[in-house]
Amino acid sequence: MDFRLGAKSDAFRDEVRAFLREHLRPDMIERAHDTGTGHDWEFHRALGARGWIAASWPEVYGGQGRDPFEMTAMRDELRLAGVPTDGLGQSIIVARTIRAVGSEAQKQTFLPPFLSGEIIFALGYTEPDSGSDVAAAKTRAVRDGDDWVIDGQKMFTTLAHEAAYVFLLTRTNPDVPKHRGLTMFLVPLDAPGVEIHPVHTMGGERTNATFYTGVRIPDAFRIGAVDGGWDVMTVALTFERGGFALSEGDRVWQRTVEWATGAHRPDGTRVIDDPLVRERLATMRINNEVARLLALRCSSLAASGGLPGVEGSMHKLWYAEAMTSDASELVDMLGADGALEHGEPDAPVDGWVEHLYRHAAVTTIYGGTSEVQRGIIAERGLGLPRSRR
Ligand SMILES: Cc1cc2nc3c(=O)[nH]c(=O)nc-3n(C[C@H](O)[C@H](O)[C@H](O)COP(=O)(O)OP(=O)(O)OC[C@H]3O[C@@H](n4cnc5c(N)ncnc54)[C@H](O)[C@@H]3O)c2cc1C
Repeated sequence: MDFRLGAKSDAFRDEVRAFLREHLRPDMIERAHDTGTGHDWEFHRALGARGWIAASWPEVYGGQGRDPFEMTAMRDELRLAGVPTDGLGQSIIVARTIRAVGSEAQKQTFLPPFLSGEIIFALGYTEPDSGSDVAAAKTRAVRDGDDWVIDGQKMFTTLAHEAAYVFLLTRTNPDVPKHRGLTMFLVPLDAPGVEIHPVHTMGGERTNATFYTGVRIPDAFRIGAVDGGWDVMTVALTFERGGFALSEGDRVWQRTVEWATGAHRPDGTRVIDDPLVRERLATMRINNEVARLLALRCSSLAASGGLPGVEGSMHKLWYAEAMTSDASELVDMLGADGALEHGEPDAPVDGWVEHLYRHAAVTTIYGGTSEVQRGIIAERGLGLPRSRR
């Protein structure tokens, strides 16, 4: 087995590195950190101008036909450089779903401005009373002539304050089993009746609560069949898993090694020479490598025309859980200074360890909690009996 990505991907990686040198500035990373908004329009538009928003798509759809291993190389570099990628990551899920199940007219309307970097999408699934049990959504959409009228509330609508549309899960039929009465829409976030309120998380990310009161949208904005929303969600949720090969944990690991190599203890020895420090860094490196290989397995499945299902859950569960315990070990390793935040003077590793510690906990929740991923692996992967009804 050859774990390298190959010469084609290495060449593309070099191109991406050159692009980053030209377009990524430290203030973009600082702004994302300070505001909690994981998206930078200037950088995003530069990606669009280069044809890299959906570089894996066929040329007829505005992509470059890059293979999954080239895409892995690209994502690795964006991650290691610290690019705020939340907008790109969540929008590509919606765009891929439109490409898979949308009408021709919808593809013409929504995909070109996305591919050029002009618009992004938000995901509107979670509600105050339904997150893991996403099919229990209560936000109502009621037909009125050629329009639909939407009333309800969504929770954790990340980047709604930057996105043009929210990909909204609604209930169109309350009288049938819950999975059968759902319909998906793209709702313009500047439509009358939409309200967006910021929610700041302990991980530093800004997300939103969004409210919909009598929001009127044309039937042309419905994605998939009426009451067929669960089929659309199934496609979208599969695209959500099996994303990035490298995570924030890899970036922080790299920076911690650099810091530990240069920093000295009061007795003059280098931090990196402490066996306990080396052991912790080695454990984290191994965990990061396992996460990377699980992600590559998803890329490899995609390369052969498959869709990562259980494999995506395995990757998501591993990286979120390992990153949480590794971040805790790193904070412990730094002692009291490990609690200093990014931006505070004397914060070791520029405070990125402290940031990782808070951010890692949040990764065990979004995109499906760790318990939910374990359930998927147990039932669909290992064939264990369902533990709940
Ligand atoms: C920073 C952030 C960004 C997010 N962004 C978005 C977004 O853009 N769009 C969006 O729609 N949502 C988003 N979410 C919401 C996220 O997907 C949900 O928070 C998540 O799915 C969990 O749902 P919940 O918060 O309602 O918790 P609940 O579902 O109420 O879960 C509570 C606890 O019960 C456990 N639990 C629930 N069901 C089971 C089960 N079947 N088996 C075992 N344990 C179970 C959970 O693991 C958890 O520990 C975001 C969340 C966060 C924190």
